[in-house]
Amino acid sequence: MRNVVIAVVLLGAAAVHAAQGDIDADRLLDHIKFLASDDLKGRASGSPELERAANYIAQQFTAIGLKPGGDDGTWFQPFEVVAGVNVGPGNSLVISDKGRSVTFSIGSTYYPLSAVPNESTTIPSERDDKLPLVFAGYGLAARERNYDDYDGINVNGKAVLIFSHEPQENDANSRLNGNKPMPQTTLYQKAAVAHGLGARVLIVVGDPTHSTDQGLYHTFEEVPDLDEAGMPVLRVRRAEMQPLLDAWGLDTLVRQIDLDLRPRSRALKDATIDYTEFLARDRKTVRNVVGVLPGSDSSKAREAIVIGAHYDHVGLGGRLSMTPERAGEIHNGADDNASGTASVIEVARAAMAARARFPRTLIFVTFAGEERGLLGSMHYVASPPVSMGETIAMLNLDMVGRSQGSVDVSGLDSAPVKSDLLAAAQAVGNIDIKQEGPGAGRSDDSSFLAARVPAINFFTGFHPDYHRPTDDWQKIDKPGTARVAALALEFAARLAADDRLTR
Ligand SMILES: [Zn+2]
Ligand SMILES: [Zn+2]
Repeated sequence: MRNVVIAVVLLGAAAVHAAQGDIDADRLLDHIKFLASDDLKGRASGSPELERAANYIAQQFTAIGLKPGGDDGTWFQPFEVVAGVNVGPGNSLVISDKGRSVTFSIGSTYYPLSAVPNESTTIPSERDDKLPLVFAGYGLAARERNYDDYDGINVNGKAVLIFSHEPQENDANSRLNGNKPMPQTTLYQKAAVAHGLGARVLIVVGDPTHSTDQGLYHTFEEVPDLDEAGMPVLRVRRAEMQPLLDAWGLDTLVRQIDLDLRPRSRALKDATIDYTEFLARDRKTVRNVVGVLPGSDSSKAREAIVIGAHYDHVGLGGRLSMTPERAGEIHNGADDNASGTASVIEVARAAMAARARFPRTLIFVTFAGEERGLLGSMHYVASPPVSMGETIAMLNLDMVGRSQGSVDVSGLDSAPVKSDLLAAAQAVGNIDIKQEGPGAGRSDDSSFLAARVPAINFFTGFHPDYHRPTDDWQKIDKPGTARVAALALEFAARLAADDRLTR
């Protein structure tokens, strides 16, 4: 992405409001140290450690003197999430031919990328006996590129065996999008196509282009989690599949496909699968934490500015990690998003100390369930303490711990909002405002945008520790984070008083 600096504001010391001094940088870092400590085990949805984090935030809000903004006079908005799956006993997969059968075991020689979990690990969530097996190449339907593995075969009511990835994946001149994957090559798309054609189970084996099996069998065992793509999608280990692949000549067929891009799908005579699944959704209650600073002007106090950050992270990794092979290691999430959570707490403290600057009400929210799909902010938007119609704007802080002098700000579509931000940046001084990040839609600001509330996201950039066990507090830019928090505080003060903003 191109770097577009929309404003670089450096002012003389005389003009600089003592804004950063209002944010206590040491306290801010202390919150990050606690939230990102190994004790909190990466703050996974549904974990007791996430609840400890919620209680800690509520204690901070109490000490600051905010009013509880959660349900029934509490600090909390509880809601339910699916935090992965519980694996019951009795899962099994057997792939058979006339002469031989191979038995796979969950978490070691196969794992579900997608399944159809139910609510009890003692009742099978899926059971298929002697399903006929059909080979469908790479499982791709890309008609606009004149390639369709499902041409001329019938998979309705059957199991389908496919290879991972796509043909000619390393060929820059391939008509299948060169050496870049086609959109159809994602497992989600492959599952959607097979499901749409009536297939019952999709079996995926690593294609022979790769010398090592890239399946994450151990990851599923450590952190059982999957997609719900409407049908079981099972990754099976190549080492165990090899005798069957050889008997059916599938490696040879797929190498021919790689040469001429002619699909060679076919029913595998006498081949069947038996699949029994005992997987149940792991439903857990998690909590947003909500604190309110009532506006200082009674004529404006019914309107609110929300300042939010998610406080959950990806726990011990698993499929939400950038290093899923390191499942089981604590993903501390210091930047993502202990940094934003700590900033919300310290902005609240500084705002409380300068209440007269906030004619409108400020609502401080730390969201749960962000990493599992922005669930906390969606819940907030559906049941806010101040209606969305009276919510003037939302400021979101997600990953603000690696500033190094600048911050990326998205969502500045309205002119008054933009001018308030630039005025705030002037007051704070020494911070570059950029608009180069991934934009709206990646964090909780997008739930507010969907509710037609102007929402602004602060972000100090991706880095090699993103969603990895190495996102540690030692790598936090303390003064830089305090400066971003100071900017959010100043920005909120201007939004809270701006007469041009109405809903
Ligand atoms: Zn985040
Ligand atoms: Zn994240």
